[in-house]
Amino acid sequence: MSNPRYKRLLLKLSGEVLMGSGQFGIDPETVSRVAEEVKQAKDAGYELCLVIGGGNIFRGIAGAARGLDRTTGDYMGMLATIMNALAMQNALEKLGVETRVQSAIPMDTVCEPYIRRRAVRHLEKGRIVIFAAGTGNPFFTTDSGAALRAAEMNCDALFKGTSVDGIYDADPKKVPDANRFDTVSYDTVLAENLKVMDASAVALCRENNIPIIVFNIREQGNLAHVLRGDGVATTVRSA
Ligand code: UDP
Repeated sequence: MSNPRYKRLLLKLSGEVLMGSGQFGIDPETVSRVAEEVKQAKDAGYELCLVIGGGNIFRGIAGAARGLDRTTGDYMGMLATIMNALAMQNALEKLGVETRVQSAIPMDTVCEPYIRRRAVRHLEKGRIVIFAAGTGNPFFTTDSGAALRAAEMNCDALFKGTSVDGIYDADPKKVPDANRFDTVSYDTVLAENLKVMDASAVALCRENNIPIIVFNIREQGNLAHVLRGDGVATTVRSA
């Protein structure tokens, strides 16, 4: 299933992907299913970095809406991403895939701190590296964390696995004849404010010429298809 265009990939998963059919938290069966797909991608020869969101547990902005300090809520959201990273590490290691978690918020007894050169070494040794705690800063999202790590790690592409199968010209839930783009430029995404990733993440990918591939990870087996280039997805790149 290897796609010769890409060697080192960053796979960003929304936290909600780990909920399975639940409304909150981590569903171990779903984590195992996703881990199996990640293992297949690794076995196909890719070097893989993972970033997992925290929206299945906590989002700072939701806390702020209910009276919590935004910054406190954001730190709680970042801690949620560490829980998700540990769950995914556990599932991958059960499948025999060596995995390291590196956190942007140092937490020495739980996982490694983020050290770029060490992360590169892990990839070279065939390990998967999960980057946790986003950027380590409030007022950002894990999409920005994913774009930042993808740039730092010289990834060839950022795959965003989410609950929709790409980027549409209107909200497909509200507009029945909304069209899905196969490819769309960074500039169009930013100018038309298309909902895919936050603007800072898209701008960082544009600056570093990292294509973003948005696809539905909830559909079983889809990661392999999308990596091969025969799956349903939208690619964001230069015009
Ligand atoms: N977060 C943050 N800084 C970061 C990354 C994440 O403050 O660099 C916080 C923020 O509150 C965010 C939460 O962590 O809402 C969970 O991340 P995100 O919403 O990106 O998760 P996803 O939507 O991908 O599940």
